[in-house]
Amino acid sequence: METILKVEDINVYYGSIHAIKGVSFEVREGEIVTLIGANGAGKSTTLNTVSGLLHSKSGSISFMGKPLDRVAPHKIVEMGLAQVPEGRRVFLQMTVEENLEMGAYTQPNSGVDSDLEKVYGLFPRLKERRRQIAGTLSGGEQQMLAMGRALMSHPKLLMLDEPSMGLAPILVEQIFDIIQDLHKAGSTILLVEQNALMALSIADRGYVLETGTIVTTGTGMELIQSPAIKKAYLGG
Ligand code: ATP
Repeated sequence: METILKVEDINVYYGSIHAIKGVSFEVREGEIVTLIGANGAGKSTTLNTVSGLLHSKSGSISFMGKPLDRVAPHKIVEMGLAQVPEGRRVFLQMTVEENLEMGAYTQPNSGVDSDLEKVYGLFPRLKERRRQIAGTLSGGEQQMLAMGRALMSHPKLLMLDEPSMGLAPILVEQIFDIIQDLHKAGSTILLVEQNALMALSIADRGYVLETGTIVTTGTGMELIQSPAIKKAYLGG
């Protein structure tokens, strides 16, 4: 399988704080890869560096064989990399449909209507609420909207930052079902999660981050069965 994203030995700082220390990982075409780790391990920092919002001091990141270092975030989106940020960050004053249309800004107008129908097929709840102001949606609906908005850009890689955050268990299951549907339809997904059990159970491969360093990697199944991972992340 072709490697879509390759991150090699990156180091990211917030002032004097060394938040990411020599992290390397890759995502291949068609995979779900998860980065798991506790609060503050550096998961969001890693994603935000890939999407160009933060910069690494050393190391390299390449996407579809092209270097991403110093490429502006909007150019990275145009290259086919979409991020669903932690806390969704939908446009609260706009309607559901306007939010989705914003996601299509990299696309020619002619395809937007059929893309909207595809997203509504995936998330019927959003179709019912297409004229509703996004700020009045529930947390789960906002997560669906943020994912739908990202899909409107036809991403070659979809990066999801803690999609389960703040959602009731039933909604977490719905979101994870949708992630699996996207995977079956051929999407490549990089999933950051604190909910390690859910993430590893759907991931082809996973990486475990601890205080800015990758300490373990393996298939989702290997990691779920590892005694050390069970003890540290899966409640024993
Ligand atoms: P969470 O699950 O809580 O979001 P995370 O694994 O995504 O955690 P990060 O948000 O990437 O972790 O944070 C990694 C480290 O960098 C933490 O120690 C955090 O305090 C620090 N950090 C994050 N953002 C900043 C910032 N803007 N300024 C200074 N330090 C920061």
